[in-house]
Amino acid sequence: MPEHFIRDEVVKDLESRRYTQVVTRFPPEPNGYLHIGHAKAICLDFGMAQEFNGHCNLRFDDTNPTKESQEYVDAIMRDIRWLGFDWGPHLHHASDYFEQLYQWAVQLIKAGKAYVDELTHDQMREARGTLTEAGTESPYRNRPVAESLDLLERMRRGEFDEGSKTLRAKIDMASGNINLRDPVMYRIRKATHQRTGDQWCIYPIYDWAHGQSDSIERVTHSLCTLEYEDHRPLYDWYIQALGIYAPRQIEFARLNLSHTVMSKRKLLTLVEDQLVSGWDDPRMPTLAGLRRRGYTPESIRDFADRIGIAKADNLVDMALLEHCVREDLNKRALRRMAVQRPLKLVIENYPEDRIEELEAVNNPEDPAAGARMVPFGRILYIEQDDFRDPPPPKYFRLSPGTLVRLRYAYIVECTGVERDAAGNVTEVRVKYDPNSRGGDSKGRKVKGTIHWVSAQHALDAEVRLYDTLFTVPKPDEAEDFKDVLNPASLEVIRGAKVEPALASARAEDRFQLERVGYFVADWKDHAPGRLVFNRTVGLRDTWAKIESKASS
Ligand code: ATP
Ligand code: MG
Repeated sequence: MPEHFIRDEVVKDLESRRYTQVVTRFPPEPNGYLHIGHAKAICLDFGMAQEFNGHCNLRFDDTNPTKESQEYVDAIMRDIRWLGFDWGPHLHHASDYFEQLYQWAVQLIKAGKAYVDELTHDQMREARGTLTEAGTESPYRNRPVAESLDLLERMRRGEFDEGSKTLRAKIDMASGNINLRDPVMYRIRKATHQRTGDQWCIYPIYDWAHGQSDSIERVTHSLCTLEYEDHRPLYDWYIQALGIYAPRQIEFARLNLSHTVMSKRKLLTLVEDQLVSGWDDPRMPTLAGLRRRGYTPESIRDFADRIGIAKADNLVDMALLEHCVREDLNKRALRRMAVQRPLKLVIENYPEDRIEELEAVNNPEDPAAGARMVPFGRILYIEQDDFRDPPPPKYFRLSPGTLVRLRYAYIVECTGVERDAAGNVTEVRVKYDPNSRGGDSKGRKVKGTIHWVSAQHALDAEVRLYDTLFTVPKPDEAEDFKDVLNPASLEVIRGAKVEPALASARAEDRFQLERVGYFVADWKDHAPGRLVFNRTVGLRDTWAKIESKASS
């Protein structure tokens, strides 16, 4: 368990008996899919509850009907479960509390702590003041309590137009904290809500709904990201003004990840403008996208542990996330052979009709994974990249006159090539040493080991190679984030050749294609007879390099 200040605070609160149990909540707004930043919050919220034998509520912060939908609600629940967390019976909605919130608003008006205002949005902004100048009080601020009560009721009944009236808390227009300058509590919104239908036409603002929802649910620790630090005085003010159960809000730094964006507004733009194939496009930082990319829940939880919980914002390198999934898959992904860009290789001295079954280990990291038999014959496919004529400097693969080992099989020596009219190599010819199977090289200079598949037995597959969605580490800093999209973030290869064992791959099965990378069978498009593999991540770990540079 990595240590962090939030755990320390929770322990202190239990020791001082400020709270006697731990209740947290994860409060997503159902206006988009969850992303890797939410995963950090989920791991913290559910993790703290688990660790202290409490519970974590899943509460939909469904206070803005125009942007929310059931599709998002369903996706959020699916993704949290996939990540490995369960809210059990603790499912809530801010909309469950609309009536209670309304009653509390009435209570605040009666106590002289709230009023109905009639300033327009622009007038209100003008009157709010600045960081250095106090705001000015609304002319409606001191209207009689009875008048505010009557107007609020009529707002609720739908008598007024959107934007014509609001309910505001009466706090302090000169406060150094702008959030306390008579914040809006309700606004008129004549929209149908996915749960409450047309029952309401006034909807609570986040600050008015959130703390009170926490209080109703007896949340002890309301953990949220740093941008809410300035809202905490308001959070506490509402609770005190109402005299209700007081949860404690604690803020932590949000996750920022390189080479991606995380604002739901921007992610929605990518989806709506069809710059990606959907919320679950494997290039998206969403949990649905990472899942389709082949990420495991374990690797994401490990990532959340490693980045830790801090009080200062920073940018985490995407290479760390990739490192986590590589480590996890190295332990459990079955090894298979597949050739992405096939080049024909003919073994001249191998009998035409002979087929051998060669044993290949399924996972050197896991003896329990066993072995399989791979067919070998006279004609094979190798990667185009594994042959060069002439060879560039430091080339450890096949070229005329050199020897390489075919993985799990024999040592071969290149004897010649065939070329097409344009001079491209169409076929590589080799001789094999029948005594070299699995054995030593007998002092010969073997350049390296390459993978292959038997041409006669190979299956066709589509492989999708993904790269980062953006070309720069901080796309949010570009004038328009769409300008820095990576045009090469997806490459589809249709003519890949894979070993026959992959015929039984099922959607979401993960493999290490030897020397190529980690792949997952795509859950939407892969089917028996139509093999589709998405590259999760390549084999080269760039994180190790970044880390050693940082520590040297
Ligand atoms: P938006 O992008 O529209 O501002 P949001 O990302 O804050 O929305 P919510 O659904 O309100 O979306 O977030 C639910 C919870 O997840 C909140 O408690 C929020 O603090 C947390 N959260 C959101 N983004 C991150 C992030 N990048 N890192 C850590 N926690 C996050
Ligand atoms: Mg939010």
